[in-house]
Amino acid sequence: MLNIINHLPPELLEVGPQDLYKVLNGPTLIHLKGRRETPLFISVLLHGNEITGFYALQSILQKYAKQQLPRSLSIFIGNISAARFGYRRFENQPDYNRIWKAGNTPEHAMAQQVLTEMRQHGVFASIDIHNNTGFNPHYACVTSLDHKSLHLASYFSRIVVYFRRPDSVLSRVFASLSPSVTVECGQPGSEYGISHAAEFIDACLHLSEFPNNPVPKEDINVYHTVATVRVPANLSFGFKDCKRDICFIDMLDHLNFQELPTNTLLGKLNIQSKQYLDVVDEAGNNVTNKYFKIDKAEIRTACPVIPAMFSMDEIVIRQDCLGYLMEALDHC
Ligand SMILES: [Zn+2]
Repeated sequence: MLNIINHLPPELLEVGPQDLYKVLNGPTLIHLKGRRETPLFISVLLHGNEITGFYALQSILQKYAKQQLPRSLSIFIGNISAARFGYRRFENQPDYNRIWKAGNTPEHAMAQQVLTEMRQHGVFASIDIHNNTGFNPHYACVTSLDHKSLHLASYFSRIVVYFRRPDSVLSRVFASLSPSVTVECGQPGSEYGISHAAEFIDACLHLSEFPNNPVPKEDINVYHTVATVRVPANLSFGFKDCKRDICFIDMLDHLNFQELPTNTLLGKLNIQSKQYLDVVDEAGNNVTNKYFKIDKAEIRTACPVIPAMFSMDEIVIRQDCLGYLMEALDHC
């Protein structure tokens, strides 16, 4: 399933993500030589609709089309068939960011091949580029709290999310090879997301090494997930002044990564129900009443919380979740 090439097809400098299938015959790993030998590994389009990483990479490749790369670059371009239609993935495909541990699909075998290949080449640092569905500030995710990974994350954003699960994501598996980070560049299509990701890649290409000392506390805020928030399947929901069971406030996703005080309004409850939200902690316990309360038919926070990745996309909310609750982590 995997194509491996050692040169840059010139069409790659011009083509849009929806037309990549005309240039590349499926998932592709491209090795390009630069001044420093150990490659920076960049992965884009693990989710076919998250196009910021591809455009950022393209602008880097355009920049270095006529000059030598400061460091070798290994590029993995993932779900090209889904990108053609602007889908995250096809129904019959596994999620390309859940295939990096052993498994028995052709996609799992392809991921193992990428890993084997990169293990042979060595990796200076690994960057996997994504977008969010809801409105979020740009942030970096790490699966390890070692100094080098936190330095890498801090070059992208002062907001850093630490997670261990799911353990089949690319960045977690690549963390065994080098400092490794997933960067979330806001919603797809924003010019700022593209330029920010491109500047980050360029900065990493110019690095000679990572500092081995701790990142100063005041330079980053590290958060970890404490609970997942879902809307019960039997309740209808909408936003603003709706006529559904739950009406969340307009621009709910603008609360992402803000420290909300107790009593912050999140929505209105138009029915009598004790199960208005399903909030589940990392151990699987229902903790709805710890974080939320109903006060005069309004859903409010019951303690200070930091929401993250809250979405206003009804399909995403139904298929995945409304969002997550985070807590600051003392990383040093
Ligand atoms: Zn993604």
